[in-house]
This record gives sequence, structure tokens and C-alpha cells, in this order.
Amino acid sequence: MRHLTALVLAALLLVSLTACGQQAQTVPEEEAPPVQETVPETPEPEPEPEPEPEPYVISSPTVMPEGGAKDGVTYVEYTGVVEHLFFHPVIAYPEQAFDGDHMSNGYDDWMVTVGEYNKILQSLYDNGYILVDIHDCWSEQAGEDGALRMKKNTLYLPEGKKPLIISYDDVNYNLYTLGDGFTYKLIFGEDGKLWSWGLDPEGNEVVSRDLDAITILDKFVEEHPDFSPFGAKGCLSITGYEGILGYRTQTDSENWTAEREAARQQEIEAVKPIVAELKRTGWTFGSHTWGHLSLSSRSYETVTADMQRWFDEVGSLVGEASVLFYPFGGRLDGDDVRQTGPAFQWMQEHGFRIFCSVGIESYSKSKSDISAVICDRLHPDGTTLRSAKSRERYMKFYDAADIIDLESRPQREVGWLEQ
Ligand SMILES: [Zn+2]
Repeated sequence: MRHLTALVLAALLLVSLTACGQQAQTVPEEEAPPVQETVPETPEPEPEPEPEPEPYVISSPTVMPEGGAKDGVTYVEYTGVVEHLFFHPVIAYPEQAFDGDHMSNGYDDWMVTVGEYNKILQSLYDNGYILVDIHDCWSEQAGEDGALRMKKNTLYLPEGKKPLIISYDDVNYNLYTLGDGFTYKLIFGEDGKLWSWGLDPEGNEVVSRDLDAITILDKFVEEHPDFSPFGAKGCLSITGYEGILGYRTQTDSENWTAEREAARQQEIEAVKPIVAELKRTGWTFGSHTWGHLSLSSRSYETVTADMQRWFDEVGSLVGEASVLFYPFGGRLDGDDVRQTGPAFQWMQEHGFRIFCSVGIESYSKSKSDISAVICDRLHPDGTTLRSAKSRERYMKFYDAADIIDLESRPQREVGWLEQ
């Protein structure tokens, strides 16, 4: 039933988007103005003026507001743990993702549905979490010996609130997900905001802000500004082998032609304003390597060549990155906790300061021998929603029993149900 509602909603959004442009999100269907009967003939149609973007303020949580208060809210010092959750792309159409093909169990393990994601955001909000930008949580400072090291920042937060970093892995709209229950790319809506574009399971075009992890968070923050008092959204962890954000900006060593290069240049021009809009509205970017390499096992030569390609094809579009998100959670040089290997050093020399793996808590450690911090992230997904142990660990964020959509997901074990 919920799928049907979602479909109808998506269809309505589409209709209202074409019908009434900027009013798309707010005008209920029955109040939508009638379709224009006659289009006045003009010899040279004026180009539509670009909608003025709504101003978006980004501020730093490392600065205490003057007088210790802002907009009537008292700010206090916070030195505790900054929680860090990460998501993969969210499943827009569960019936397509969980259709029993060879990917179904993988999606079940590593992803959440749009419905689950909405509930998780609401629960995070209800539990007093607020978004902070990962780049604001540590800074490079000189120690007594003059050497630079990454130090945890003191944050100044609205009283009673807890800081939360959210990162999003593989925000590439990879080919294997297309037609399998996910959105296809980010685009600009007629209101100048970012919307997702895609096809529903019946093959109809759907332009929506309710089906994609990014646009859903944008909307959630619009509706709950106090969820992001500093304007932060999430950090997007992106690879390069299939382009970025649904645009095919990558090169390919095989069969490269002038035609393909021209198409690539078009995609590059199309994605640039999308990147700019994301940055303007609180999103930041990190690297997930070009080829989604497991960094724990690949040779130094392979890793550095792959990253050079990331700088050329992705860094050139999203700007300098200081956060590296390990694909498969594979720690650089096999173990970045106890050693600083040659590949780790190379990454650090190339600008990376925050190195993120995956774990059972929001662990972080500033390394003593080099200016870098290594950290773990928690992962709301099917594996942790189903596990009894994880349910306990994630209870401070949400209760998995309230979140998991067992009707949509494959019939697999749920640890806390069988206790
Ligand atoms: Zn990944």
C-alpha cells in the first residue's frame, strides 16, 4: 500500500511540477491552477529567468556565538564523542530492489529503504542530534614540538544537542543500481533546488525530492532547521569509475573516441552547477578512491595511480578533498591504527587528513606520528537493523524494531525477533 502511495505521490509531484513550476512542493493538487488555455504567440520566446536561489547560511560550530546565545538559543561547550553514521544510496522502490535477483541480498545487507531512512532521520532529530560538518570536528594545530597534528575541536552547540556527522558512500548512481530500485541522478528542478530524476518500476519518468537520500535530507532540514543549526548536511564519498552524481564524467581506457570525449565534456558541464549547488547548501565531498579499491590489500603503485585518476577526474570537479572514505572499510596499508605505511603517507601528503573506515562505534584517534585522524563510522543498513547486538548499539539513535520494513525486505533472519 505504501508503495502505491509513494507512486501516486511521485506522479502528483511530477504533474504539479510541470503544472505550476515553483509552487510544485506546496500547492496541493486540487488547488493547482488550471492549465493555461492559450499560449500567447511571441516571435522570440524570452528565456526563462533563472530562479534566485534562497540564501543559505553556513556557520562554524567551533565559534561560540556572541553572548553565548543565538536566536534565543543558549549554546554550550561540547567535547564529547561526535557520532558518525553513513548510508549507501537509499532504495526508492523496494519491490524492484528486493525482486529476488542476485543483488537483492546485497541491497538488504547494505542499504535502507526511503521509508526506513525517513524514520531514521526523524528519530535522530527526536533524540537531539544535530548535523555538523566532518571538516569542523578536527583541525590541524602545531604541538609543543612545532609539528602539526590533527586535534579534536571543541564545539559550541545548542544546549542539550548532540553532534552528528552523516556521510554517504558511492554517491555515483552506479550503473548496477539503475533500473533496480534507485534514483538515476540529481538534477535542478524548476524551483532551482536539487531534485532526483529516475524511472519508476513501470518505466515512467519521476522527478522527486522524496526518493533520494540527498534531496530527502535537504527537505528534512528545510522543515527542521534546528536539525542543522550550522547549515551542515552530509559528506559525499564518491568514486570516479562511473562518473559522479549520475553524470558520466569518467574516462575509459578502451575504445575512446572523439565522440565519447565530447559526450563526457557535456556531462562535466552539466554536473558542475549541481556540485556548486550541493556545496552552497551545506554538502561536502570526500574521496572513495577512483575505482572503489580495497586499500588494505592493493599495492602502493596501484593505490597511488588510482588516486591520481581520482584527482584528475573527480577532484577536478568537486575540489580539494581532505576526507578519505575507505572502500569496503579496508584500512590503508592493512592497518592504519598501529602503523603509518607508505600509502597512508602518500595520501596525507596529497591533502587527506581524515581517514574513515567502518566499525561498531564512532571511534576516532588522532595519530601521534603524522597529521591525520582515523575514525570509524556506524552503518544503518540491513545488517545492523537485523542484528540483536547492533539494535542495542544503535538504540541511542533509533530502535531498529521501529525502523525496519520487514514487509518489503527479503525474508531473512532478524536477530532480535528470535530471542
Ligand atoms: Zn563504497
